Amino acid sequence: MSKDTVQPIFIMPEGTQRTTGKTAQRNNIMAAKLVAETIRTTLGPKGMDKMLVDSMNDITVTNDGVTILEEMQIEHPAAKMIVEVAKTQEEEIGDGTTTAVVIAGELLRRAEELLDMEVHPTVIVKGYRLDETKAQELLNSMAESITEDDENVLKNIAATALTGKGAESAKEKLADIAIRAVKKVIEKKDSVKFNKDHIKLEKHIGGSVEDSELIEGVVIEKEAVHSGMPKIVENPKIALIDTPIEIKDTEIDAKIEIRDPAQMQAFLQQEENMLKSMVDKIANSGANVVFCQKGIDDLAQHFLSKKGIFAARRVKKSDMEAIARSTGAKIVSTLDELSENELGSAGKVEEVKLGEDEMTFVTGCKNPKSVTILIRGGTEHVVDEAKRALTDAIGDVAAALKYGKVVAGGGAPEIELAKGLRKFADSLSGREQLAVSAFANALEVIPRTLSENAGLDPIDMLTEIKAAHDKGEKWAGIDLFKGTIVDCWNAGVIEPLKIKTQAISSASEVARMILRIDDVIAGGKAPEPQMPPQGMPGMGY
Ligand code: ADP
Ligand code: MG
Repeated sequence: MSKDTVQPIFIMPEGTQRTTGKTAQRNNIMAAKLVAETIRTTLGPKGMDKMLVDSMNDITVTNDGVTILEEMQIEHPAAKMIVEVAKTQEEEIGDGTTTAVVIAGELLRRAEELLDMEVHPTVIVKGYRLDETKAQELLNSMAESITEDDENVLKNIAATALTGKGAESAKEKLADIAIRAVKKVIEKKDSVKFNKDHIKLEKHIGGSVEDSELIEGVVIEKEAVHSGMPKIVENPKIALIDTPIEIKDTEIDAKIEIRDPAQMQAFLQQEENMLKSMVDKIANSGANVVFCQKGIDDLAQHFLSKKGIFAARRVKKSDMEAIARSTGAKIVSTLDELSENELGSAGKVEEVKLGEDEMTFVTGCKNPKSVTILIRGGTEHVVDEAKRALTDAIGDVAAALKYGKVVAGGGAPEIELAKGLRKFADSLSGREQLAVSAFANALEVIPRTLSENAGLDPIDMLTEIKAAHDKGEKWAGIDLFKGTIVDCWNAGVIEPLKIKTQAISSASEVARMILRIDDVIAGGKAPEPQMPPQGMPGMGY
């Protein structure tokens, strides 16, 4: 063998795909831009909806960014990173998912232009990082402060979140519900804390969205276990039990030999006595309502009903916790623990028939730390979309109260921010300045898209809005319904500051991350699991 022959060297398994350098970068940018492009048309109150059909032929009609992206089952790795941005936004606030993704896409598009001008990716990354820090500072200083007493502002925030959504017809009602719900569960001890799980959204098909209501307590999809139990208990004493009200099965297989009928009788009597004593323990504590996370024996049901106790079984753990939070009851795991101290109180426990479903309402709780919103609507699609809209409104009101800072919408903050960032760019020099200006220009994508989606001329709108900001009108934005420039604060288009700060930080972070990648190594697919050769002769197994 000659010395010059070079043997090919394989350092990666067969089937691995690798793209490097500019190709990798361009591919990633392209994929990310495509994601943004897909949901761009849904932005704003005049945005369009999308109909998604999954593999089971289930249909979702929505304009909620994160829902669309989740249903799309995106596979490209860079595109997936963009989907993560939407998910983060959804986790942190619940609203602003489209905004975050659209900004991320535009940051990458502008970066691509710089790459074409031979600006090195690391320079762009550095510029974008400088920008992000400055943007957070500028946003914080432009925001207005609010408190819980600014009812009007809160109403506007909730209404802004609901505008253009499927549930818009009941906007006032839903806005009011969202605000009352958030105010009930938000905690204001040392710092303001909000846990969105403390507002339970219970969907119910039937009636109209207008019939949705806030229940100061908990609604569970359970009925009384026995038909003889009371349907309504006023001023209930509620016990929460997470152990079965049944005779335990033995752990090992045991055999009992019974020789005469009397023994059999005694044996059954013994069981009955045990169940009776369990029920007595409950009754002696003073409880007249029982929610049991496990099963309740038929006989025990009978005894409970004879004592006039309302009982529901196999209640979900999350519901048990919600009832505990709203009624002050403590969940007990042995009946011996149960005493008056563990019981919770409410105004009323009631079994209600809604359409086909039996539900139990625990209402009139004095100081509920957990509330339920019963969302109604004519069809499943309406109820689902109302739920998504309400999630946005709740998230926005909570974010406004938690951080105490809000901004106007309608493209106003983005333009004000772009103006500030351009000024900042002037203080820099060289190529970084290019990146900083690119970031500023990218923010204009929000008012531009809002106008496009409303059928307005984006160039006219941008020119006018920028002129207004140059005159110092910081909340000048677009009235998408009239096609004019207005003071969006006075027009009542208001959003929590956190939507904007979060959207910009996640968008900038993902753009920087994607720009830094110059090598994509995709491992070969894992081998398909082999089918057992059942009844398939001649398949070569
Ligand atoms: P996201 O998923 O980002 O929340 P939306 O479809 O809810 O997307 O659109 C939010 C954008 O629409 C924000 O920029 C907001 O300021 C703007 N917007 C909402 N309501 C109005 C309105 N009545 N007039 C003008 N702009 C509005
Ligand atoms: Mg929104």
